[in-house]
Amino acid sequence: MRLSKFLLPTTKENPSEAEIVSHRLMLRAGMVKQSSAGIYTWLPLGHRVLQKISQIVREEQDRAGAVELLMPTLQSADLWRESGRYDDYGKEMLRIQDRKERDLLYGPTNEELITDIFRQTVKSYKQLPLNLYHIQWKFRDEIRPRFGVMRGREFLMKDAYSFDISEEDGRKAYQKMFVAYLRTFDRMGLKAIPMRADTGPIGGDLSHEFIILAETGESEVFCHKDLVEFDAPPADIDYEADLDPIIRQRTELYAATDEIHDVDRFDAEVPKDKQMTARGIEVGHIFFFGTKYSEPMKAVVAGPDGQNAVPVQMGSYGIGVSRLVGGIIEASHDENGIIWPMSVAPYHVGLVNLKSGDADTDAACEKLYKELEAAGVEVLYDDTDDRAGAKFSNMDLIGLPFQLVIGPRGLKEGIAEVKNRATGARENIDLSEVVAKLASEVQSAL
Ligand code: ATP
Ligand code: MG
Repeated sequence: MRLSKFLLPTTKENPSEAEIVSHRLMLRAGMVKQSSAGIYTWLPLGHRVLQKISQIVREEQDRAGAVELLMPTLQSADLWRESGRYDDYGKEMLRIQDRKERDLLYGPTNEELITDIFRQTVKSYKQLPLNLYHIQWKFRDEIRPRFGVMRGREFLMKDAYSFDISEEDGRKAYQKMFVAYLRTFDRMGLKAIPMRADTGPIGGDLSHEFIILAETGESEVFCHKDLVEFDAPPADIDYEADLDPIIRQRTELYAATDEIHDVDRFDAEVPKDKQMTARGIEVGHIFFFGTKYSEPMKAVVAGPDGQNAVPVQMGSYGIGVSRLVGGIIEASHDENGIIWPMSVAPYHVGLVNLKSGDADTDAACEKLYKELEAAGVEVLYDDTDDRAGAKFSNMDLIGLPFQLVIGPRGLKEGIAEVKNRATGARENIDLSEVVAKLASEVQSAL
């Protein structure tokens, strides 16, 4: 992408409304623009990150056997009356009437809608297990939208719903999602710790929140230090194998958020030198809730042994896709700006032309730009006539993993400068080798 043809409204000034670093940097880097309280336009750079995160989430859901569909944002209120949640949900729910005065709502979550789809389409236990997910906008009229996309009113969520014939199978479905979450967050360069959680208005008896540690986190967390050290399961993990050992390893050490913090238990179970208290950001939340919706909504199937009308066992599994954009920045930035992990970076390389308008420099940049793209490297080419200093600070701000700097002096010597955004290290590389070198750096980081 040529910067001259892109929309990247970066600013030097710190926006006064932003209280936390990710919000400040997202505004300054031209990733989002507030449209009204807690509602944002995703500008091109931010949109690319949102797409990369969505794609990682999608790949790991698919790997774990979940199946993607897409439910609408607007739902019929009648479904929520069936489950009894229409009145319970309160003012967080945005209620709408259509021209025929039918009650609709902008979905804050989708248990009712998916249960309705299930009961209309699945008749037999032979079609189970089934896990359906989508990545869709939600609306919750939060009392206090804040911290930019971290607590928005409109936000993008991945929500998956599992259906099983027995509680035992339902727990297996839960475990698959648990493992998929460990992999998902790891691929984004995050250490996400599963913590026992309150089941809240969704209800049920088995629930974990996935929390990333950051000073600006909204919840207080209490956890065993070793939980931060575990590696994620490998890509070739067999989801049909017994996942119980992994789950046990991640859940037997004490970890909980302030909502259910049990001081006595924390003190009793965790040795003093392993106790850790910190702030955390909730990036995912999984629940197993059995027949909570299937019973009232009559989502039943024909069971084995000729049983009729067995209510299905369900779980639901959310990931805050748009919140993750802010969460990753909270976890990875410095005083000059964002530092993207390669996997979610909007572009892999920023190409800086130090003398736009100079025929030789332009030609060299043009050639590198094309060769890099052909090698599968995503390049944002700063071909504008801004000053070099401004180009450098912009590149640091938007945080692409590598900067490739081309100027007349280097060209004379046949070299390019490559800067690694994370380490700050600069290296002079022969022009004939730089494309292959960057392509392999990008590949190995993905
Ligand atoms: P929170 O306690 O932060 O309000 P929640 O328990 O209401 O979250 P869930 O209903 O489990 O959240 O939603 C799944 C995921 O969606 C959460 O883990 C979080 O990452 C994300 N999420 C929830 N509310 C918001 C919001 N207002 N803005 C952005 N992301 C959100
Ligand atoms: Mg909430």
